[in-house]
Amino acid sequence: MKAMKIFYDLNGSLYANITNKCPCNCTFCIRHNDETVGENDSLWLEHEPTMDEIKAAFDEVDTSKYGEVVFCGYGEPMERPEEVVETARYIKEKTGMRVRINTNGLVSLMHPTFDLYTMRGAIDSISISLNASDPQKYLDITKSRFGLASYNSMLNFAILAHSFIPDVKFTVVDVIGKDEVEKCRERAADVGVPLRVREYISNNREYD
Ligand code: SF4
Repeated sequence: MKAMKIFYDLNGSLYANITNKCPCNCTFCIRHNDETVGENDSLWLEHEPTMDEIKAAFDEVDTSKYGEVVFCGYGEPMERPEEVVETARYIKEKTGMRVRINTNGLVSLMHPTFDLYTMRGAIDSISISLNASDPQKYLDITKSRFGLASYNSMLNFAILAHSFIPDVKFTVVDVIGKDEVEKCRERAADVGVPLRVREYISNNREYD
């Protein structure tokens, strides 16, 4: 049986990969074409790891060279929000490291009863994929199974998280074009959440 790659290093940063589930099917997702890991070193989890497995995997990590753990793998971390928060608290208690989530921002559609405020004190930073400037364009890119309601839910998540998490920002990739980037900038400004424009890198989902 292949070892599960729950925590992994990429370009000197430490990432946590606790689920392969995702409600979207983004056109640019590394799940379609990943050359960042070899065939025998895949981020595909052979099962969704339990909390005991996640903690045991973290106990094996030499954390001395990292200042931060980023939840971001071959799935959407907030498919398992309670596990993200519990893992983050475990990491913080054990090491004091910062914790970031890279997310599609759809947790309130995936898990309507999840209490967002449980992230307070556990999560330092959230990067939310804005992707587009309106609901239809967003759906065209993400193919979210929640349909057109996805965009506003993602915006609302960003607004709320920004009110109590120290560092919350949107990201878009420059491949969407200058005009659309500018519209995204306006949309981000409308809701008061900073936007970072990332350079598109093939096979790179949200790693930076
Ligand atoms: S980029 Fe993220 S949200 Fe989109 S399909 Fe991949 S894991 Fe899901």
